[in-house]
Formats: sequence, structure tokens, C-alpha cells
Amino acid sequence: MNRDLAHVEFEASVVAALPGDADDSNRPRAVADAAYTFVMPTPVAAPRLLAWSDDLGATLGLARPAVTGPAVEILAGNALAAGMRPYAARYGGHQFGNWAGQLGDGRAITLGELITPAGERQELQLKGAGPTPYSRFADGRAVLRSSLREFLCSEAMHHLGVPTTRALSLVASGEKVVRDMFYDGNAQAEPGAIVCRVAPSFIRFGNFEIHSASEEVELLRRLADHVIATHYPDHRGGAPRAYARWFGEICRRTAVMIAHWMRVGFVHGVMNTDNMSILGVTLDYGPYGWLEGYDPAWTPNTTDASGRRYAYGNQAQIGMWNLARLAGALLPLIGDKELLQEGLERYRSTYTETWRAMLAEKLGLEALGREGDEALIDELFALLAIVETDMPIFFRTLDAAALEATDESLPRPVVAALYDGAVLDAAQRERWRGWFRRWQERGATCGLDVGERRRRMQAANPLYLPRNYLAQQAIDAATEGDLAPLQRLLQVIRHPYEARDGCESFAARRPEWARHRAGCSALSCSS
Ligand code: AMP
Ligand code: MG
Repeated sequence: MNRDLAHVEFEASVVAALPGDADDSNRPRAVADAAYTFVMPTPVAAPRLLAWSDDLGATLGLARPAVTGPAVEILAGNALAAGMRPYAARYGGHQFGNWAGQLGDGRAITLGELITPAGERQELQLKGAGPTPYSRFADGRAVLRSSLREFLCSEAMHHLGVPTTRALSLVASGEKVVRDMFYDGNAQAEPGAIVCRVAPSFIRFGNFEIHSASEEVELLRRLADHVIATHYPDHRGGAPRAYARWFGEICRRTAVMIAHWMRVGFVHGVMNTDNMSILGVTLDYGPYGWLEGYDPAWTPNTTDASGRRYAYGNQAQIGMWNLARLAGALLPLIGDKELLQEGLERYRSTYTETWRAMLAEKLGLEALGREGDEALIDELFALLAIVETDMPIFFRTLDAAALEATDESLPRPVVAALYDGAVLDAAQRERWRGWFRRWQERGATCGLDVGERRRRMQAANPLYLPRNYLAQQAIDAATEGDLAPLQRLLQVIRHPYEARDGCESFAARRPEWARHRAGCSALSCSS
């Protein structure tokens, strides 16, 4: 029986386990000796439910609320359910390679934890719920366009099989929020919105970093013990080796998560350590994007356009860099750098193995590792990079080409994936044909029948992704009050691997008009 959110009894395990800030005002300030600050969401004028995840609602045992009413008041920060003790977490982080000091939940407020019908603990957190002591100079609010993108991507990633935080609801606040989208002095009032995010925990690498940097070793230990007891019960013990093994497990999970990003062509865009979940789930959807034309140097984040630190092809390496920062933060508990090094090695080996296994599935092979496989892969990515070739479409079309004769024409997946104006010369076309012949020969001796190979490829290569321009179309309509395009896009991306009649346009290449339009390819951090 699904319950009304307003009638659920919440728990607060973080509040019970860790010390809060003695000051509970939301005046911006540096906080010490605390894991969080109690802070109430700031009420909004006229909340209305814009989107809801029925699937997540069912997992949580929650009924879909009406457009307005007691549940939506809670999801907007206007009311609390029993047992909720709202707080903003204190954390720090490395941003773009530099220690940034205290950051913290500047616009996120955790409401509490509920126990699902299956007995799992899930935290509900509002994003855009008003100022906290960690808001620094900003307003604690979020605009509709960025909130809609977070809701949409949380749903997409979950259904793609990528470890992620979830989103339960998208609520319009009925208020305007002023943002300078292009950072050019032309600030605009935009509709505001609030997302209710859900995860077992939103604790980040940065929560550990702030205690370590502030020499709060006892707090660091309590935080680690809380996370282990609640989320990693197999790693209890408290001895340096137990902590180090736990770190190794965080490394393993992070490696698996990033390998999935690479599989589906997801670019996070802001992989600062304050955006890295201690549970190894994708966290904080800001200026993210989906790789279209294959280009390892591509990033959707205009703020990162010069350095490209968080570009598609750098993500695995940045995962390692971020874990090394976490290792540094955990050193006071472990003492021995060698023990932490083992965890980082685990990251490296897990990433390599997982990515290879995923590539094998993407190519419909049993595994990679035979002589010639390395060259086959290298040549594939070299070819994909020559001219603008849509990576998701190429892989998704591959299964149909498993048995097709490679005659004088260009293989079908390449034709399907080439962007307008992308031209291959005769030698490049011949290279593609050569690659297809080698891939087909390799597949013919892989020990799997064609049906099984095609099934594997279809399960590893998504057909429907919420490409930035599709998200932008949903945003434009929602801003005008029309939620139908968002609902339609949500329906499609909730079944990303299953071809469905009438959905062809959602699986197409990005149209030319979207190439340089704001939000349709690249985005700023302004949200
Ligand atoms: P992000 O780049 O979204 O991960 O945010 C980095 C830091 O800035 C975090 O501490 C956020 O809480 C804070 N922040 C971002 N946007 C806002 C905002 N509108 N109001 C207050 N704090 C914000
Ligand atoms: Mg963040």
C-alpha cells in the first residue's frame, strides 16, 4: 500500500550519529567541529508538482501526490512530515584541481530518512530549498531548467543501469529566480523549481576532506564509522586495515560507475570531489551532457572549455585523482599510505576490467583479450574520431550489421552515425570497411550465436538518451507551461534499450539547429 508522504514517519540517523553545528541560523559562515547545520527550508509562494517518478515512489512506498496539497508542500520545503530534522551538510572539496575549502550544501537541505517497504533506508533531500550557512554569496535556489535536467537525468541514468542518486519529484516554486545564464551581465528572472533527490546517503568525498583539512580527526572517524555501519556493514571493525578495505570498496564502486558513464557516453561535467558520492553513485547533475560526435576531448561544461579537465576521455583518470584526494583525507585513520595505494590499484584494475567487459558487450563479443583485440579497439576509436560520428548511434546500429556483407558501400552503422557535412575520403572509407571485416570475422569465432550477440549489443548500447537538445525542448515547453514534451521524453528514456514505434525522432542524431543553441549542446554552470 503506497502511503501519503505527509503521513510517513521519518528518521534521522545522521543527526543521531554525528554532531551538528551549535548555531542554527542560516547566516553564511565558516562552520567548525560539526558534520552539518540544522536549517529549515525557506517556504515558496505557490508550489505545484510538475513531475514525479512512479517507479521510485513505489520503491519508497509513496503514492503519487496531487498537483498541490500536503505532500507537495513538503516537497517544496513549505512543511515537514513527522520526524524530519532538516539540515545542510558541511563539506569541502577540490574544485578543478584546487582545494576550495568549505563548500557544503548551499542549496540542498536533507529532510530525513524513510524506511522503504523493503526495509532500506533512503534519504530525501530538497535541492533549491533556500539559503543555508553554506550558500556563500548565492541564493540557495535553483531554476526550472537545471532542476528539470536533474530530474530527467536521474531517471535516465537509473533506467540505463548506471549507479545514480534518484529524483522523486520536480516542483515549481511559483517564484522567480534571477540568473545570469551567460555570465555576460544580462541577468534574467527565470521560474524557480525544487527537486526532491533520493539516495541512501548524499555524503561525498568532500565531507571527509573538510574534517581532515580542519584536523577534526575524531569527527573524521565518527563520520567514517557512521558511513561504514550504515552503508558498508561488511567493513566494520575500525582497525586501519578495515578502513583501508572499505576505501578499496569505494574505489571499486567508483570505477564501475565511471565505466558505465563511458559505456553510455555520459559526461558529468563537474567532477569536483564535492560532487563524488561516497557510495559510488552519480551525484549532482549540473552542466552534464551526452557524447554525440565521438570526441574524447568533448565537455558540455562551458566553464571547463579551456582546460577540458572533465572531458569525456579524462573521466577515468579524474576518478583516480579524486580517489587519491579521498585517500589523503582518510590517511589519519589508516596511517599507512601503502594500504591506501592498494585501494587505488583496485580502482585501476576494476576500471580496466569493467570497461573491457563492457566494450566486449558493446561489440557483441564474448570477452576481449585475444590477440588482435587491442588493435581492433584502437582502430575503432581512431576511426570514430576522424569526422563527427555519433557514438551512441554507431554502437546501437552495430547489431544489425553483424552479418551484413561489406561491399563497396560504407557500412550501415557509419552511415547512420555521420553528422551532416562529415565526409570521409576514399582511404578512410576503406579503413572502415576493413574494420568491419575484422570485427565480423572476430565475431564469427567468438563462440556466441548471432542471436546472443545481438542481444548483448542491444543491452549494452542504449537507443534513447536525453540528449541536451531534447532536454532543452522539454525545458522550453515547460517554461511555457506545457509539460507534455517532458512527460513524453520521460516515457521514452525510461526504456532506453527497447526500440519502440513512434519514438524514432528520439533516437536520431542531434539536428543542426541545435549545434550552437544555448543548452542544446554546451551549458554554463549557472543553475
Ligand atoms: P556545484 O557546482 O553545483 O556542485 O556547487 C558547488 C558549491 O556551490 C556547493 O557548495 C553548492 O551548494 C554551492 N551552490 C551552487 N549553487 C548555489 C546556489 N544557487 N545557492 C547557494 N549555493 C550554491
Ligand atoms: Mg555540487
